[in-house]
Amino acid sequence: MRGQAGGWLSAMAIAVGLGLVSGCSPQGGHSSEPPGPDWTARRDQMVRTQIEARGVKDAQVLASMRAVPRHLFVPDSYRDVAYSDSPLPIGEGQTISQPYIVALMTELLEVEPGDRVFELGTGSGYQAAILAEMGVEVYTIEIKAGLCEHAQAVLQELGYDSAHVRCGDGYGGWPDAAPFDGIIVTAAPDRIPDPLLGQLRDGARMVIPVGDFYQELKVITRTGDSFQERSVIPVRFVPMTGEIERQRN
Ligand code: SAH
Repeated sequence: MRGQAGGWLSAMAIAVGLGLVSGCSPQGGHSSEPPGPDWTARRDQMVRTQIEARGVKDAQVLASMRAVPRHLFVPDSYRDVAYSDSPLPIGEGQTISQPYIVALMTELLEVEPGDRVFELGTGSGYQAAILAEMGVEVYTIEIKAGLCEHAQAVLQELGYDSAHVRCGDGYGGWPDAAPFDGIIVTAAPDRIPDPLLGQLRDGARMVIPVGDFYQELKVITRTGDSFQERSVIPVRFVPMTGEIERQRN
C-alpha cells in the first residue's frame, strides 16, 4: 500500500515538474506540454465561492483551506474535480467530505495553533492535513487499513509531521494523548460514543454528525462534567462502524 502511494505521489511530482518546465520555457518559445492546472487559483476560487460565500470567517481556517493540496488526497481519477463543491469517493465505499463541510467543522472546533485534536475517521487524511496546516497537533484513527496506510503515506510525503495516524477503531479515542482541545468525528454514529466525551478537555468542543439516514451536525461543549449540545445543520456522512455498531446489535 505504501509502495503504491509512493508511486502515486511520484507520478504527481513528475506531472508537476512537467508543468513547471513548460511554465519556464523561454519567452516566445513553445513547449509541447500544456500547462498543468493552476491548483492555487482553483483553491482560491473554492474558498471564495463555496466557503466564504456560505459564511465561514475564521482566518486560520480559510488560510489552511487555501494552502492544503486537496487534489493530492483524492484518487487520480478525481484529481481534476478535487476542488468541486461536493464529496468525492476515496475507495472502500468511503468519501472525502465536501470542502465547505470540512471548513465548517474546523471552524466549529474553535482551536488554536498548539492545540491537540482527536479525529475519528482519517479517510483520505485531508481533514487531518487542514488541522495540521493550522499548527494543530492531530491524533487521527482510521478503521479501514488500506485507507489508513494510504493517508499515513500522503501526510508523511507532504510533511505534515504533526498529524499522527493510527489504524483501528476510534471508538475508544486515543487515551494516551487525551485530554483534547477538540474532537472531530467524520463518520456518523447513532449516538455519541461515551469514551470520547471523557477525553474532551473542560471547555473544549466535539464536532460530530449524529443519526442514521438523517443526521445532524452537532457541537458538544464540555463544562466540568456537563455537556451542552447544539445542532448546526443536517448532514450526510458514512456510518461509524466497529464497536458502536456491535453495541447496537
Ligand atoms: N475525514 C476524512 C473523511 C472521512 S470519511 C477525510 O478528510 O478524508 C469517514 C471515515 O471514517 C471512513 O474512512 C471510515 O472508514 C472511517 N470510520 C468509520 N468508522 C470508524 C471507526 N469506528 N473508527 C475509525 N474510523 C472509522
